[in-house]
Amino acid sequence: MGIKSKTMDIVKHFEFKFNKNLGQNFLIDENILNKIVDAAELNENSSVIEIGPGIGTLTQEMAKRAKKVIAIEIDKTLIPILDETLANYPNIKVINADALKVDFNEIIEKEQLDNVKVVANLPYYVTTPIIAKILNEGAKIKSMIIMIQKEVADRIVAKPDTDEYGTLSLLCQYHCDIKKVAKVSQNCFVPPPKVESAVIRLDVLDKKRVDVEDEKLFFNIIKAAFNMRRKTLHNALKTLGISQDILEGAMERAGIDAKRRGETLSIEEYAALSNEVSFSLS
Ligand code: SAM
Repeated sequence: MGIKSKTMDIVKHFEFKFNKNLGQNFLIDENILNKIVDAAELNENSSVIEIGPGIGTLTQEMAKRAKKVIAIEIDKTLIPILDETLANYPNIKVINADALKVDFNEIIEKEQLDNVKVVANLPYYVTTPIIAKILNEGAKIKSMIIMIQKEVADRIVAKPDTDEYGTLSLLCQYHCDIKKVAKVSQNCFVPPPKVESAVIRLDVLDKKRVDVEDEKLFFNIIKAAFNMRRKTLHNALKTLGISQDILEGAMERAGIDAKRRGETLSIEEYAALSNEVSFSLS
């Protein structure tokens, strides 16, 4: 039986009601499912943290290849379904929790996970907060293979001087190498979402892409620059509460024209600027 019919059977059998507010669009396309699992490059030494297993379709495929799968599902009505669909996989553990509230490193330590990959068909309403949480908290993972809205995938890989380029691009590119894996149409899900999706893979870098003295300052400068993306850096950075003298001196030493707009700066330029500001403040 194909995964579409299996999914429909399970939904019917358990009288499961899809909860739109939880981003419940279940994957029913075998080809995309295989692409996700292949891109994760799982083997007997790898562990997976899956966010939002739904009825466990992707979870089962990963459990066949990985050593251990920890699946974090917020919806308690899915837990009895998962108990049944995952019954034959002793290497899967389901945690009924909100992925935005868990401590990933605590789970990794407690479950003694090595070589950890986060794999998920992410609930779209929390895509950006989940990615940001994992990267900002320094979760000890190797990579993330995630299905997200295509528009968010475009923002993640965006280059300077494009409409898509912004804080999310810089956050992800600072921490990771990024590859696009697949474009996914709406009819690969039940119920179909309103937007197109994409699978991307983010490999967490051992050493960050650029050397930054003060990460908090680096991201504060980026946020201030993109909060007013149409304004010059000179104007946008005023909101930081740092003296004009320090900012102007730092821009000059970093070789950045204060009349440029924040959306034109490369990650290397943001690093140079924030390091100069940090130097002046120290
Ligand atoms: N993995 C399944 C698949 O591919 O068919 C389901 C994916 S569905 C897009 C998103 C899943 O994430 C749903 O099962 C939903 O209940 C769950 N979810 C939503 N918000 C969550 C959160 N904050 N933490 C954990 N799971 C969440």
